[in-house]
Amino acid sequence: MNCPNCGSSNIRKKNIIYNEGTITSRGHNRGSQNLTTQTKLARVCCPPKQSLHNVWFIVLCISGVSVLSYFLFKETNILSLSLIVFIVLGLLSSFIWSVLLGKKEKLLFKEKYKNWEESWFCLSCGKST
Ligand SMILES: [Zn+2]
Repeated sequence: MNCPNCGSSNIRKKNIIYNEGTITSRGHNRGSQNLTTQTKLARVCCPPKQSLHNVWFIVLCISGVSVLSYFLFKETNILSLSLIVFIVLGLLSSFIWSVLLGKKEKLLFKEKYKNWEESWFCLSCGKST
């Protein structure tokens, strides 16, 4: 197989470049973090990262609701009670929504990862395919 961009045969799989260029060494002291050293090329060929925005969405929702309910519980009346019910229902639906979104994202991530595993990097021109 040759590079479709420059025709060079000097191409390698991205995951091989990444694994070769990434060295993880254990910290010397107990409790210290593992050290990861990476070559420039390995950084270019890094695998896709799973996004965490649905986790942040849940955190945001929960903190928003707790702040709101604090103010509502200060002067409890029927109106604020119905508001609480409304907020709880909103939280519940957003939670279900984020779970569904997370599932979709996981599938998308799997696909991205598979693409990365199967992609090539040209060492002559730097293009990836
Ligand atoms: Zn090339």
